[in-house]
Amino acid sequence: MKKKGRLTFNDEACKGCGLCVAFCPVNILSLDNERINSSGYNLISVSDMDRCIGCAHCAIICPDSVIKVEVIDNE
Ligand code: SF4
Ligand code: SF4
Repeated sequence: MKKKGRLTFNDEACKGCGLCVAFCPVNILSLDNERINSSGYNLISVSDMDRCIGCAHCAIICPDSVIKVEVIDNE
């Protein structure tokens, strides 16, 4: 059974450092030039959530605990 992940973000806590982008093994995260939080930091976009493997690298590396990963089974 293949694992998949679903992400949720605490956008207001994000500092736009880009660490999660750099550590995602399937390269689905990017800094969004169109969206900023109230502190003026660019938020993270997910290009294709279906490709997320639920590894949680992004959540572990994030210094501000912005990302929550829910791992789901995919038949
Ligand atoms: S859980 Fe893993 S695959 Fe999914 S977005 Fe985070 S780093 Fe990428
Ligand atoms: S690692 Fe955390 S603080 Fe940095 S850009 Fe990603 S979500 Fe935002």
